[in-house]
Amino acid sequence: MGKQQPKVVSGLEVWWWRHRAIEAAIATDVSSAEVDWLLMEVAGLDRLALRLESFKDWPQMQLQLSLEDLEHLWQQRLHKRLPVQYIAGVTPWRQFKIAVSSAVLIPRPETECLIDLAVEAAVNLQPLHWADLGTGSGAIALGLANAFPESTIHAVDCSVEALAIAQTNARNLNLADHIQFYQGSWWEPLAALKGQFSGMVSNPPYIPTATLSTLQPEVFHHEPHLALDGGSDGLDDIRHLIAVSPAYLRPGGVWLIEMMAGQAETVRELLQNQGSYDNIQICTDLAGIERFAVAYVAS
Ligand code: GLN
Repeated sequence: MGKQQPKVVSGLEVWWWRHRAIEAAIATDVSSAEVDWLLMEVAGLDRLALRLESFKDWPQMQLQLSLEDLEHLWQQRLHKRLPVQYIAGVTPWRQFKIAVSSAVLIPRPETECLIDLAVEAAVNLQPLHWADLGTGSGAIALGLANAFPESTIHAVDCSVEALAIAQTNARNLNLADHIQFYQGSWWEPLAALKGQFSGMVSNPPYIPTATLSTLQPEVFHHEPHLALDGGSDGLDDIRHLIAVSPAYLRPGGVWLIEMMAGQAETVRELLQNQGSYDNIQICTDLAGIERFAVAYVAS
C-alpha cells in the first residue's frame, strides 16, 4: 500500500465492510483478527472502538485507501494468500512499526531475539562497527542502531528495492544517522572496513530450495525467494558467512545468525571446522527451537 490521499468514508460503510470481511475470513480459514488489525492500520481505529463498534455512527472516517481498494486487497488476502502485512504496508517488530513491501521478507517475531542475543554477546566488547548482512526491511539494523547508539551499523542488501524500504524505515524511526546502507553481496561492499567490525548479525536465506514449495502459501507465493532460498541444503549463504567473516571481524568480534530448525549441529560443525571461531553457542527461540548460532572470532 503506497502513500495515498486519505479517503473519506462513513463509519457505517466501514462497519459493513468489517462484518463481511470477518465472515469471509472465517469461511476461508483466515484469522478474523486480521480484519481488525488491518482496520487499525488503514483506518486508525483502536481496539476499543472496534470492540464497541463505536465508529458505526461516525459520519466520517479517513482511510488510507478506498473501500474498493481495501476490498480488492482483502480478496487477495483470502484467495491468493497475500500476507496481510503487505496490504497494510507495515508490520510490528520489537518496538518499531516497520514498513514492508513484497520486495522484503516480513520480519518475524523469532528474529526479534537476534537483537537481545547481540546485546548479550557484546557485553565485553566496545561495539563500534556492526554489520547487518542481508538487511531486507532493515529490521535488524534498526534494532542494532537502537541497542548500540554509539555504534555505526552497516546494512547490506543485494536488492535495490529492499534497500529503499530499509532506508525509509531508518528515516521514519529517526535512526538514519546511525545506519549506512550498501548495495552488494554480503561483506563485499564493506571491504574498506576489514578487521574492524565488532559484530555481524544476519538472517540469511536458509530454506533448502526443495523445501520452499512446502512453506505456507503466504510465504511461497508472496515473499521474496531471494530472502528465503539457501540452496540445496539451505546452508549456502551460512557457509559463505562462516568462511568470509573472520577477515572482517575484530579479534573477539561476534558472529551471530538465524537458521532453520535442524541446522544447528551442522552449523556448529562448520564453525568449528573453519578454525577461526571459539565459544560457539546455539541458542533457542521462544518456542524452544535451536534457531540462532553465536560465535566469536578467536583473539
Ligand atoms: N523464517 C523465515 C520463514 O519462516 C525464513 C527466513 C529466512 O530464510 N531467513 O520462512
